[in-house]
Amino acid sequence: MQFINIKHPAQSVSFPQAVVTGLGRDRGLFFPARLEPLGDIQGLLEMDFVARSTIILQHLVGDSMAVDVLQDCVKRAFDFPVSLVAVAESVHALELFHGPSLAFKDFGARFMAQCLARFGTGQRTTILTATSGDTGAAVALAFYAQPDTEVVILYPQGKVTPLQEKLFCTLGGNIRTIAIADDFDACQLLVKQSFDDPQLLAELGLNSANSINVARLLAQVCYYFEAAARLPHGTRPVFCVPSGNFGNVTAGLLAHAIGLPVARLIAATNRNDTVPRYFQSGQWQPRPTVATLTNAMDISLPNNFPRVLELGQRHGLVLRDLLTSFSITDEETLGAVRTLDAMGYLADPHSALAWQALQKSLDETETGVFLCTAHPAKFRETLEAALSRPVPLPTELQKVADKEVLSSVLPADFDLLKDFLLNQ
Ligand SMILES: *Cc1c(COP(=O)(O)O)cnc(C)c1O
Repeated sequence: MQFINIKHPAQSVSFPQAVVTGLGRDRGLFFPARLEPLGDIQGLLEMDFVARSTIILQHLVGDSMAVDVLQDCVKRAFDFPVSLVAVAESVHALELFHGPSLAFKDFGARFMAQCLARFGTGQRTTILTATSGDTGAAVALAFYAQPDTEVVILYPQGKVTPLQEKLFCTLGGNIRTIAIADDFDACQLLVKQSFDDPQLLAELGLNSANSINVARLLAQVCYYFEAAARLPHGTRPVFCVPSGNFGNVTAGLLAHAIGLPVARLIAATNRNDTVPRYFQSGQWQPRPTVATLTNAMDISLPNNFPRVLELGQRHGLVLRDLLTSFSITDEETLGAVRTLDAMGYLADPHSALAWQALQKSLDETETGVFLCTAHPAKFRETLEAALSRPVPLPTELQKVADKEVLSSVLPADFDLLKDFLLNQ
């Protein structure tokens, strides 16, 4: 399987090259050149998660990775459970937060780290990534103590929760964290500027672990199949995905493109609603990013969206029928947290937002699955305020709660960042 640069389809690379380079020419995103349906979907759904995921990923990466190597990557990366919990008769929570950083980003980050460890050139690599909260922890924990690998994580100062910050800014070792005095889009722009800088590229061996890296995207396809495997035979679920950079929902569309029976997908956003407005008006009109309770989705320039369009333009998905997008307010999100809690399900704000969007759209003949992207305790402050009761911390968070944050602070200035990266 070749991966093409969406911006310059003539640039075509293997999976290992796409993972190691991260971005193509002119910051173009890599994407599979062809998407063929998998055979025997029912047989696949009967397999266990690791065996099935190996077959799915093999189908997507082709023969650029030996099956036993790929299987080993999958086994090491996906070493934590996925749960599907019924919250109502035909509404299910797909819990993707049982990994080490307590967010779904563990799937992508851990699979990517496994791939890079095998594709490495033996030279020093610097993983430079921007996070709106959860990527940072997933990437830091996935790459912590990996040989020949430095990790630099940029995040918007004061815009991640204290516990999120503790999870990735207290590790030390090969993990450096920088609080940028601006928003997430500014962090993302600094990463892009770094990749355009020949000196940084050459001296640091830069790689990005952002959701633009195709290894992360492909890993996420696997849990859509797991959801279907847990549902009654023959169900065509509606998936509702809390969306920021639109990597997760792209993975859902990819799962469908290779044969997973899906009724449709919903990309739920918060007030940063560039995509819902685009679907309504046909106009791409990003507005300044606003801070919301669902901070991992405070993004007005979703960097995976070109891949969504690519699935329509080059791979024949009829997006009009398959994908809708809604914006949910903070008030609605808090209402959803309370309603779900009254139904006996504690959801973090991102997951609750997805449930709310599903509620608005699901009809009584359909079965809905909302993706639960973070552990509720990661957003403890918001939940405690909404529910007026304490939310206990799981041991992963208890362990970091009292550690010292080791981050540096910088303004959103590329020259200062470059100097910092080269000299510290
Ligand atoms: C990253 C993240 C999202 C958004 O996922 P995208 O793939 O960027 O759309 C949603 N919820 C949580 C908790 C996240 O960390």
